[in-house]
Amino acid sequence: MSPINRESEGIILDTLDHGESDLIVTLYCRHGGRSSAIAKGAKKSKRRFVNKLELFTFIHVRLKQRNTRSLAILEEAELHSAFLPLRSHIIPYTAASVLREFCLLATREGEEDERIFTLLVWSLHHLSLPRPRLSHLQIVMLFLLRFYDYIGYRPDFSQCFHCGNDGQADSSSSFGFNTAHGGLICTSCKGSGFSSAIPLSTGTIKTLQLCQDTSLDKLHRLKVQDKSLYEALNVLHRFGKHILQRDIISWKMLRQTIKPQRPNWT
Ligand SMILES: [Zn+2]
Repeated sequence: MSPINRESEGIILDTLDHGESDLIVTLYCRHGGRSSAIAKGAKKSKRRFVNKLELFTFIHVRLKQRNTRSLAILEEAELHSAFLPLRSHIIPYTAASVLREFCLLATREGEEDERIFTLLVWSLHHLSLPRPRLSHLQIVMLFLLRFYDYIGYRPDFSQCFHCGNDGQADSSSSFGFNTAHGGLICTSCKGSGFSSAIPLSTGTIKTLQLCQDTSLDKLHRLKVQDKSLYEALNVLHRFGKHILQRDIISWKMLRQTIKPQRPNWT
């Protein structure tokens, strides 16, 4: 059987020491999705992969695989962007760590979705800008909102999932978000004991809908008020825990790191 050769752009999500001289790297690739590969001699010969196999680097790789079940060998890596600020500043680093944790836990080896790759590059790029138009927390929010959609859990902010109330007929309607259904529930349905809900104001619901409907190339122009940002993050964090059925370890780190800057984020 002839070996499989593959070339792709990818983002380094994880590295693991393997024996004395090798590294096993996990990437999210434009072509091939999440991919693991062994970089032979990467720990000993610094020259071959110098600065290319660091966390969050954006590289072009050539992978060789004996067959579809064997671990790929990383033959060559070419640096596109090191996204250096992500490794030298704690806040963008912790924000990027949240994105990384979701990519590692919610995607499967070899399952390709170019939208996830593009979203990841977009987010890391904006997180590493010296004077970003979007705050680090806004980028995390925008990433999660889209990421859930791409993995099949698009949150629905258009109407109550139980009765269909979209708030148009009755402007006094208020809604909350139910993680089990991934959608809104109105006060009347909640009042009838149907389901539990995390509070979401009308302004935040509108902002979230707008964020979902805006294309990635225009997303950095959006203005999101802090109140909506915090409400949205609360919902997205709890929805993420529900989807993954576990705690998001890096979330705690992000909260602790960012707290001095944003004391109102609870
Ligand atoms: Zn309802």
